[in-house]
Amino acid sequence: MFWHQEIETLHRPALDALQLERLRETVRRLERVPFYRGKFLKTGIQPEDIKSAADIRRLPFTTAADLRENYPDGLLAVAREEVLRLHTSSGTTGKPKALFFSRRDVDTAAELIARAVCMTGVTRRDVFQNMMSYGLFTGGLVMHYGAEKVGCLVIPAGPGTSERQLLLMQDFRTTVIHILPSYALYFADFLEKKGIDPRKNLALRKAFVGAEPHTEETRRKIEEALGLDVYNSYGLTEMNGPGVAFECEGKCGMHLWEDNFVLEIIHPATGEPVDDGQTGELVLTSINREAMPLLRYRTRDLTSIIPGPCACGRTHRRIHRITGRSDDMLIVRGVNIFPQQIERVLMAMPQIGRNYVIQLEGLDDMTVKVELSPAGFDGEVGHLTELQNQVAEKLRAEIWIRPKVELVACGSLPVAEGKAKRVIDKRSL
Ligand code: AMP
Ligand code: ZN
Repeated sequence: MFWHQEIETLHRPALDALQLERLRETVRRLERVPFYRGKFLKTGIQPEDIKSAADIRRLPFTTAADLRENYPDGLLAVAREEVLRLHTSSGTTGKPKALFFSRRDVDTAAELIARAVCMTGVTRRDVFQNMMSYGLFTGGLVMHYGAEKVGCLVIPAGPGTSERQLLLMQDFRTTVIHILPSYALYFADFLEKKGIDPRKNLALRKAFVGAEPHTEETRRKIEEALGLDVYNSYGLTEMNGPGVAFECEGKCGMHLWEDNFVLEIIHPATGEPVDDGQTGELVLTSINREAMPLLRYRTRDLTSIIPGPCACGRTHRRIHRITGRSDDMLIVRGVNIFPQQIERVLMAMPQIGRNYVIQLEGLDDMTVKVELSPAGFDGEVGHLTELQNQVAEKLRAEIWIRPKVELVACGSLPVAEGKAKRVIDKRSL
């Protein structure tokens, strides 16, 4: 199903030409922003110099630090009265990153979500419960406007308590949810404890999960536990929020809306492009924004381009699910480890539950605390030790070091209200 078939299936040469035209227009727009004007002056680049897709490499990168240094409105590209909305990112340190939307930007963001919602087979007959936080975080409002555009009945549930979420799902026969993967796992536990079988007692059929990294194993775990189809949804505040890239029904990578964003994958250290299929850092340029377009934004998210066409007919290229952030790589005893590697091992083990935390202490000691699945402990302490060893061995095979493993009761690890905090680093290095 298409929301805007013509643009979603636009043949490649036309899509490339559209990108180029919009990129030039964006550079022209950014000549009004002192930060960018200064950079253009230094290199002497003019909008007319951008003649091919490769010319994007003549433009400067923008980093999260640039956004913070120009906070609150140094990167605004329109007059203040043109601005309709403000969102900030959920960053953990220092000043937030602020992003402005003009009226057209609010509309475009909703349009991109509408495309994504439709491509998973959701229609106006669906009841869409948005379980992401409403407020400065984009996951609430931006997704809300998009689902409304499709015509769904949208329930602005926010992250609320699980009891309330369940009540809404039962009373309004919710069919689609938008939820953090960590919360989806927690919510599955909650239903299990209440003795509610979602397949029998609820009408759920699809979930959009995103806003934090998760693995294919986690997707499967959520699908099994909640009895629905899970689609990966990628976005970031700097590029509107959700709706940047989204899976189609094939669930084979996320289509990135290339009429709105120029996609590059670079080597994080050298800044040079990597080949299709190779993992690198995703760099995005917003080419269809008015209030605050960004050039070559270093997302720090690691992914790759999936080569070849998709069976759904969309021509916008697909990216692989995010495998980590270049800045969340842990170095433990000299070994590079991504938290996702640990998650992949844990979520593939049926005895293991749905919540975990990685703790780093002392000089370089790693402890993985993980919940047992509700049926994972039969009361025999010996079996517990055996399982503990099994988990540690499987982790060693994946990450090359053998962490300490602590098995804890289902539901005993803390659950964050927003994005899950999986790594606690208290090392005295
Ligand atoms: P925020 O701007 O606060 O919404 O955070 C955006 C960041 O969340 C991205 O740069 C990613 O690191 C992460 N993120 C968003 N969606 C996904 C996803 N589907 N998979 C993995 N990470 C994601
Ligand atoms: Zn597709």
